Amino acid sequence: MTSLDNGLEAGDALRVLDRVFGYKSFREGQQEIIDHVVAGQDALVLMPTGGGKSLCYQIPALVRQGVGVVVSPLIALMQDQVNALTALGVRAGFLNSTQDADERREVEAAFLAGELDLLYLAPERLRVDATLRLLDRGKISLFAIDEAHCVAQWGHDFRPDYLALSMLHERWPDVPRIALTATATPATHAEIAARLNLRDARHFVASFDRPNIQYRIVPKSEPRRQLLKLLRTEHAGDAGIVYCLSRASVEKTAEFLVENGIAALPYHAGLDARTRAANQSRFLREDGLVMVATIAFGMGIDKPDVRFVAHLDLPKSVEGYYQETGRAGRDGLPSTAWLAYGLQDVVQQRKMIDTSEGDDAHRRRLGAHLDAMLALCETVECRGVRILAYFGQEGSACGNCDTCLSPPESWDGTIAAQKLLSTVVRLMRERRQKFGAGQIIDILLGRQTPKVVQHGHDSLTVFGIGTELSEAEWRGVVRQLLAQGLLSVEGDYGTLVLTDASAEVLGRRREVPMRRDPERPAKAAKVAKAARSAPTADLPEEAVPAFERLRAWRAATAKEQGVPAYVIFHDATLREIAAGAPASLEELGKVSGVGENKLAKYGQQVLETLTA
Ligand code: ADP
Ligand code: ZN
Repeated sequence: MTSLDNGLEAGDALRVLDRVFGYKSFREGQQEIIDHVVAGQDALVLMPTGGGKSLCYQIPALVRQGVGVVVSPLIALMQDQVNALTALGVRAGFLNSTQDADERREVEAAFLAGELDLLYLAPERLRVDATLRLLDRGKISLFAIDEAHCVAQWGHDFRPDYLALSMLHERWPDVPRIALTATATPATHAEIAARLNLRDARHFVASFDRPNIQYRIVPKSEPRRQLLKLLRTEHAGDAGIVYCLSRASVEKTAEFLVENGIAALPYHAGLDARTRAANQSRFLREDGLVMVATIAFGMGIDKPDVRFVAHLDLPKSVEGYYQETGRAGRDGLPSTAWLAYGLQDVVQQRKMIDTSEGDDAHRRRLGAHLDAMLALCETVECRGVRILAYFGQEGSACGNCDTCLSPPESWDGTIAAQKLLSTVVRLMRERRQKFGAGQIIDILLGRQTPKVVQHGHDSLTVFGIGTELSEAEWRGVVRQLLAQGLLSVEGDYGTLVLTDASAEVLGRRREVPMRRDPERPAKAAKVAKAARSAPTADLPEEAVPAFERLRAWRAATAKEQGVPAYVIFHDATLREIAAGAPASLEELGKVSGVGENKLAKYGQQVLETLTA
């Protein structure tokens, strides 16, 4: 980047965007943030995953004098980040515990000699005196604090080392700081500002809307089969992430997919570090792998072409769900967020909350998170609107989620609710018994199962009063009563008990609107069309062969260089090249994602591949 690194001014941001990154215009919010930091001011940036946060500190680091120091907890990804920058012609290095002394010395020397544009640091490095003294001896253009929510003590990614970052300001008062996160809750936001000493920083809050992600939540019946069908019909050959709650179900699901011919890898905290790293690296490098994982996987995974995120178990909060699904479609191309959810999830989650460590206040907080997640699952409104509302933002119906595409009918579930709640009441009052959903539904349906007969439940007055609904519909009723707080579960067996609000329904003082689960979840055909998300989806027929040739060329080149394919070019860039068929280097250079360095390095090969 020698030609760029001196004498640049604020107005040069757009030029850097074009020349280095090959992008023609800024995304929402980027320009303002970049101008602010280039001018030497502090910033706190809240932007969704895929919103384009990296450029918000990378461009100011290139424009300002000195080295941009990026604090990031993602040690395993630093090498890839540096490789991606190097491919753009940006001079970058990192310091973390994975290096030996020689490698470290080399980076330190480059830093001192002013031969770096960006230096990535693990936060724990900043607790080491030698690092601080090193930084004192160089010229720093800015501090970027990535994944800034790691400073939030209530968050799931808390890193104690982040607390020490408040000292950056005292030690280097003239160096601007920019903290960035995709975590949107106002509480986290306030905590970041306080703990990083960023109260005087300007806050930039982008919209958390992710229009290219299609949100779908379906009733769970046979989750693995449902998943397989989704992958086969809509995501054949696509890269994606499948989230499961437990390590055991991660293992089982990965095996199941492999047995069914889908290239899948497991990832959870029970695997040894080397296997985890190897699986993560394969997922990033190879095309079309499916990662089956617990939520231990994902933070900072900046693979742009994750085409789907599937949840086989209910996430614990809307916040977590949003973060996890947000890993789909960073490149802006159509992607799917799919969740299968059922009654058993609610039972299991409530149980986990009841038995969780911590005080009552903590349990109440967990309960409130779960309730919000359940409300999202059971809504008849646009999922996107509900998610935005959760983060305190407004939006209009997305037109792309399952409820927008095939609006669920709602029906008056008051009588059904009364029947079900009365059954619970009878069991509790007349028999001093509590049962789970299965037994209660059997009673409503008038089934003389051995368990019903054994307990004499066929002599209850409520026996057989609910034959107008099917078993699946009754399960839907139970789920929705749980979601609305009109029923509650307790204990190891998920027994159903009344809540304070149940009395309002039983006393006919409250109506209970319910959502009817679609017969065939979200009308597969209609959704599938909208979601056809293979990167070739809306490419003109005649451009597909060229696209496939470019992909093959990219795969070979990436392998040769030992970098992920997206480091060479993104799918979106290859698509644009295939569709536009540029005939000269000059034309190729106009494509989004083709900067000067990549044009010089790969331009000729791309043109040859196109005409091959
Ligand atoms: P975040 O860190 O916010 O999740 P990234 O910085 O990884 O997002 O950016 C997401 C993707 O969008 C990246 O692939 C990046 O190259 C691309 N991108 C960012 N800004 C622009 C832009 N102005 N024009 C085109 N693509 C962009
Ligand atoms: Zn919608």
